[in-house]
Amino acid sequence: MDLFFSKIRQVLDKIYLLFIKNKIKPERFGKSSGKYIDNQKKRNEESKMISDEKKETKIKIVKRNENFSQWYLDVIAAADLADYAPVKGCMVIKPYGYAIWENIQKVLDSMIKATGHKNAYFPVFIPESFLERETEHVEGFSPELAVVTHAGGKKLEENLVVRPTSETIIYSSFAKWIHSWRDLPLLINQWCNVVRWEMRPRLFLRTTEFLWQEGHTAHATHDEAQEEARRMIEIYRNFVEDYLAIPVVVGRKSESEKFAGALETLTIEGLMQDKKVLQCGTSHDLGQNFAKVFDVKFLDKSGNEQYVWQTSWGVSTRLIGAVIMVHGDDKGIIVPPRIAPICIAIVPIWKNSEEKVKTIEVAKKLTKTISSFSFVIDDRDLRPAWRYYEWERKGIPIRVEIGPRDVENNQAVLVRRDTGEKIIVSQDEFAARIAEILNSIQQNLYNRAKQFRDENTHDVKSWNEFQRIIEHQGGFIRADWCGSVECETKIKEITKATVRCIPFEKDEKHNEKHEGICVYCGKTSRSRALFGRAY
Ligand SMILES: [Zn+2]
Repeated sequence: MDLFFSKIRQVLDKIYLLFIKNKIKPERFGKSSGKYIDNQKKRNEESKMISDEKKETKIKIVKRNENFSQWYLDVIAAADLADYAPVKGCMVIKPYGYAIWENIQKVLDSMIKATGHKNAYFPVFIPESFLERETEHVEGFSPELAVVTHAGGKKLEENLVVRPTSETIIYSSFAKWIHSWRDLPLLINQWCNVVRWEMRPRLFLRTTEFLWQEGHTAHATHDEAQEEARRMIEIYRNFVEDYLAIPVVVGRKSESEKFAGALETLTIEGLMQDKKVLQCGTSHDLGQNFAKVFDVKFLDKSGNEQYVWQTSWGVSTRLIGAVIMVHGDDKGIIVPPRIAPICIAIVPIWKNSEEKVKTIEVAKKLTKTISSFSFVIDDRDLRPAWRYYEWERKGIPIRVEIGPRDVENNQAVLVRRDTGEKIIVSQDEFAARIAEILNSIQQNLYNRAKQFRDENTHDVKSWNEFQRIIEHQGGFIRADWCGSVECETKIKEITKATVRCIPFEKDEKHNEKHEGICVYCGKTSRSRALFGRAY
């Protein structure tokens, strides 16, 4: 019986609800039931909007000048780029972050191929003995190695290292591939992940596992290898400056900062907005160190057996960290148009369903003219301000607003992410203006970063000045350095600043006849070095 009454009660409740909806509410909200449905729908939409917006309000970005390192993490979270993984130091790259990486890959891969390199793939596991063959190399990497001791349910006869870099495994193959001078130069590149155990992880900048490309080449002469190492660092410079809009200083590393196992390491160094320096890419002249260990030999034109000369070079997902720290502002990341997964976000604005149809129609019509650029039409039922906010923190270069008045006036409102400037354009010249403004944003991001870099590069003559500037101003310091490890170590101990590089002459005001006195010890110096506190 109880069940019977509860059923009756449910039926009565439904009838009552129907009564309320159909009889009472329509009169209160308007005469026609059509109007009522609109109102009801509108209220549903509004409550959905508010609940979505409540979620959005959780996204907070601390100001850059209050706490730069927290700002960096907030920006990554707010733009939905990446997250930490269950294993300490590992990183989950989310779709939007990965889309940026894919664009970096696409451009750089074509530049690498255009200079004659071919892609290949080598295994993630390296026999431990391979790394031990090159003493400097294993010493440099051993603290960061992840080692597999067991597999297939039993202890392995030889431990396997998860690659921290692939010189050793690749050159054991090169020894089999290379026979005569006709096989040279051998120009190989691979896109892969590497593992370097990280004690102080930081998303994109320092993660235990990261993605990168590593180029590996073999040449008949040292001259050719040096030329290759130089060519690749210049390609990195072009890519980072032209696509990521980050100005860099190119130079060579000091003995203590060079790659473990290299004769010489070339580097590109960029200045972040917190005035700390980030190494953005390196290219190594490996000499014959690895060739001798892995027996990579060739018969030269006169039939003599010789060791090859080698290079290796790489850039990684760290570049995404550089983009955030060089261009980002208090609203979030700013993605340079040339690598942006989405260049244009179009936001139609409406107050009723009629306006909604019209503004979306115009949005769709306009996108037909910009099919060569990546875009989204954001017609979600969220208030315009909330939609703007999302594209802002994701750093989409141009936001387009189309409201009922713009439909009437045959116009659209473009908003630049880099400056916030609003530009009203006629719909007829929409495509041309979009192209022009994207170019202008790309250029402005570079100019702005270069101006910041230049303003924060200090020519320093005395040790007192060095200490004062590094402590109170930060940035790049250009100073004479005698070249000794002792001075380098002392400077690092006292100021936490390292020799970032000895800039190439072409970037230096001084020529090779340069002579000065070391900023630390006062002895004769033949070159000026670039110092800074680095990531
Ligand atoms: Zn000195």
